[in-house]
This record gives sequence, C-alpha cells and structure tokens, in this order.
Amino acid sequence: MESIIEGKKMEAYAEHRTKDMHVCALCGAIGYRKRPMRPVGQKWVCIDCLRALKEMLEGLDQWEAEIQLEKEMAKKIDETMRA
Ligand SMILES: [Zn+2]
Repeated sequence: MESIIEGKKMEAYAEHRTKDMHVCALCGAIGYRKRPMRPVGQKWVCIDCLRALKEMLEGLDQWEAEIQLEKEMAKKIDETMRA
C-alpha cells in the first residue's frame, strides 16, 4: 500500500517538473528554471533566442529599407533593359 502512495507521489512530482520544463522552439534548449523561457503563442522560446530575435527586430527597419532599395534597383535595371 505504501509503495503505491510513494509511486503516486513520484508521479505527481514528475508531472510538476514536466510542467516547469519547456523546450525552446528555436534552438531546442531545455529550459528548466535556470534558463528563462517565455511563451510565444503555443511555443516556448529561451532567453538567448529572444535576445537574438530582439536584435533582429531592432534592425528590421534598416533591413526593410535595404529590401526596398534592392527592389527599386531591380526595377530600374529592368526598365533600362526594356528601353
Ligand atoms: Zn532557444
């Protein structure tokens, strides 16, 4: 009887641990208390990946400007070719 109770306790403990444990959707790192993680939609992302994402987002305006410039350049070249 006692071993069943112990088993249940272990089960509950394991479940509790699993709830605290998340796998980063981007790098696959397992976050468990020591590695902070945040939910992003249905997924969890670790602090390292979130930092990288933040840096990427900060440079997004410049990136978009570059893409726009490339598009305009391509258009100009296209027009020159046709003329
Ligand atoms: Zn990560």
